[in-house]
Amino acid sequence: MEEKTKQLNNIRNFVIIAHIDHGKSTLADRMLELTGTIEKRKMREQVLDQMELERERGITIKLQPVRMSHILNSNSYILNLIDTPGHIDFSYEVSRSLRAVEGAVLLVDATQGVQAQTFSNLEMAKELGLKIIPVLNKIDLPNARIEETEKEIIQLVGCKPDEILKVSAKTGQGVSELLEAIVEKIPPPLEVQPLVSRALIFDFSYSVHQGVIAYVRVFEGEFKKGEELFLINAEEKFKIREVGFFKPELKETEKLGAGEIGYVVTNIKNPGVVKVGDTIINLKSQIPALPAGRSNLKSWALEGYREPKPMIWANFYPESQNNFDDLRSALEKLHLSDSSFSFKEESFGPPSAPPLRGGLGRGFKLGFLGLLHLEIISERLKREFGLKVIAASPTVAYRILLKDELAEEIIYSAASFPEEHKIRGVFETWVNTEILTSSQNLGSILKLLQDYEAEVGETVEFSGTRLLLKAKMPLRELMRNFFDALKNISSGFASLNYEIVEERPADVLKLEILVAENPVSAFSRIVPRSRLETEAEKMVEKLKAILPRELFSVKIQAKATGRILASRTLSALRKHVTGNLYGGDRTRKMKLWQKQKKGKERLKARGSVDIPQEVFLKMIRG
Ligand code: GDP
Ligand code: MG
Repeated sequence: MEEKTKQLNNIRNFVIIAHIDHGKSTLADRMLELTGTIEKRKMREQVLDQMELERERGITIKLQPVRMSHILNSNSYILNLIDTPGHIDFSYEVSRSLRAVEGAVLLVDATQGVQAQTFSNLEMAKELGLKIIPVLNKIDLPNARIEETEKEIIQLVGCKPDEILKVSAKTGQGVSELLEAIVEKIPPPLEVQPLVSRALIFDFSYSVHQGVIAYVRVFEGEFKKGEELFLINAEEKFKIREVGFFKPELKETEKLGAGEIGYVVTNIKNPGVVKVGDTIINLKSQIPALPAGRSNLKSWALEGYREPKPMIWANFYPESQNNFDDLRSALEKLHLSDSSFSFKEESFGPPSAPPLRGGLGRGFKLGFLGLLHLEIISERLKREFGLKVIAASPTVAYRILLKDELAEEIIYSAASFPEEHKIRGVFETWVNTEILTSSQNLGSILKLLQDYEAEVGETVEFSGTRLLLKAKMPLRELMRNFFDALKNISSGFASLNYEIVEERPADVLKLEILVAENPVSAFSRIVPRSRLETEAEKMVEKLKAILPRELFSVKIQAKATGRILASRTLSALRKHVTGNLYGGDRTRKMKLWQKQKKGKERLKARGSVDIPQEVFLKMIRG
């Protein structure tokens, strides 16, 4: 059969890509207003950031599609926008939305100029052949550096000066011209003569009643309620319960056609079946080019996405072992709305005796994209599921060669890091980083890079006063809050981007923390030998400052290679047991003091130190 293509002239699909805080969500607000998608009275700032956590922190965590109608020169258009997060931890969210669209608005804050994330996102968009519309934002601000930023954009995109649009997402200035440019410059989707109906899943959410709701881009054909569909990679059939689009809330429609972005209610309730990047096809489609048979259906799969790759790992334990099953079911549910973290049940052996609260027990090994991601997941467990978890110190993965076995082992937690004498070799991941900064910060950034064991590479001048600095460093160091440190020393004016490049030998070992002479494995850390003493001091000092005092004194120690490297004593809390006894009844007071002393001894013998969840969370941040 001959292939024919058809332009779907009234549809435009696009994303806004930008560095964090450059104004994506605010620009989306103005577009929603101008197109009348959201009623004025329902409008609020950054309306697409729907998660409570997003609104509180003022950042976009999850991508959010929305469909708008727009009339230009008396033609009516459907504009599908996908708002994406800008933080480095979430760049994979950007990568998956890019495959669902034909164009990208590249938004740059005129007071900040081009930033590292602008680079990496633009790179991805170019690779996929998307039409780029460069836009300067925040031109209303007096400190907007319009000309310099224009030059940076020209250098980056290779466009002409008059191709750059200037807007204020805050006041709305220039936004209707931008909508016009979107219609005129971004190519309409193309539909190949439909042999099959095909759609790509770029995200999903979950509802208790409807199961997985897949967010899809339809490439060919159409999808309707009641039709039987097939998930190509999962090899799973399902019947469509409902189709619709995003307003941004779900709005049912009769069908979803080629070129459109919308949702499909699958009613699939098993976790792990629906995955981002899978292709759904209509089983009733005519497939004349292929003989029947499942394996051949695979050739109909649309190109998927790069799988999100966890960068750091942390064991999570329920605060009480009774909540173990609750934690599992919460993680399963959470995974249905954020497939970018991974989790696996782990047995960490019997709880250490005497039991330190949160010491050990059954838990889960979780993989995250970065520290912010870890914080968000633990916060969501608390808010959305009412679950308190104890999170062990996060670590990157290490590949370890053991002395007496030929086998190698991948270690994901400090708690399971072998004793030094058993190790033949340790390997770790290194990353390439790109740092964009103004030249005046160069000195302090170079110093910082040295502290983080980086090898500094070339520096490229970028538009006069700014520099692009390349450096290699261990992922372990990058994950030691390098990003925050960089922002601090540059007052927010440096940005970072990184990618994994290679594996190198690592000189690291396990540092254990003992509380009341008992190791608390959740506090264990893998640290470089060169920083062993410093880290040991830092950790006992920090723990002493945040651990609540007990009725008895508590020893806090750091230990490595069989030696105690640092030690502090948390003095006892003296409870005024006699406080409400007045008068001269000396014997009663003596009795109470005796009783208190006995109680203290008993507690001390059990080593029952109460370590609240907050303490574990505070220790994570280094
Ligand atoms: P995002 O992280 O890219 O989604 O950025 P937001 O839309 O959340 O905007 C970040 C901050 O910049 C918010 O405080 C906005 O109010 C502000 N902002 C966005 N666009 C403009 C603009 O054009 N002018 C001014 N003055 N502020 C803006
Ligand atoms: Mg945002």
